[in-house]
Amino acid sequence: MITLALSKGRIFEETMPLLRAAGISVLDDPEKTRKLILATNQNELRVVLVRASDVPTYVQYGGADLGITGLDTLIEHGGDGLYQPLDLQIAKCRISVAVREGFDYVAAVRQGSRLSVATKYVGIAREFFATKGVHVDLIKLYGSMELAPLTGLSDAIVDLVSTGNTLKANQLVEVEHIMDISSRLVVNQASLKLKQAPLRRIIDAFSGALEAA
Ligand code: AMP
Repeated sequence: MITLALSKGRIFEETMPLLRAAGISVLDDPEKTRKLILATNQNELRVVLVRASDVPTYVQYGGADLGITGLDTLIEHGGDGLYQPLDLQIAKCRISVAVREGFDYVAAVRQGSRLSVATKYVGIAREFFATKGVHVDLIKLYGSMELAPLTGLSDAIVDLVSTGNTLKANQLVEVEHIMDISSRLVVNQASLKLKQAPLRRIIDAFSGALEAA
């Protein structure tokens, strides 16, 4: 049995066409079932639904043989023990720094004052500001990052941006583009040895679906 870890929402939805192109269909709709283990039309393959930030952990420790996770989550996790064969080019977005409209970010950085930054991506933010030589106080949040500058919790946020509509709706502006993000296929390295043939078939199927897209 091969176990594929996916998170509900954007990654699940954008993975389905790739699976379909590879002749795989998931037999339950995650939005309609409370099941966490979903069968597929292939006896040897099942899908487990986990929180997005838990996908690398499931795959690292063998709770799943492979999984699909955003590069953001993968970098924060560290990627230990994970083979990363494919950029699936799905759930594309960017990770950016944003501030309240009217906040003079350039002046704050130039003056060398300490910037408070709220984010779920503490590792990415720390590395980015360290490279720029900007002193920051990082505040770890788990969601609704946009609220932090509006309530005075922080000067800036580091968050995922896709269309920019969420920032705009909250009177925030993007001031730095840190990196482009897309979802990656990650594979447990031990599984890759022990279940080589079925895993190769799935990796090749994803790869073929990508080439056809
Ligand atoms: P947008 O309004 O299109 O810029 O989307 C921004 C909101 O969606 C933010 O709350 C982000 O955290 C979230 N978001 C954007 N792209 C992604 C993605 N690829 N995966 C997960 N969350 C995302």
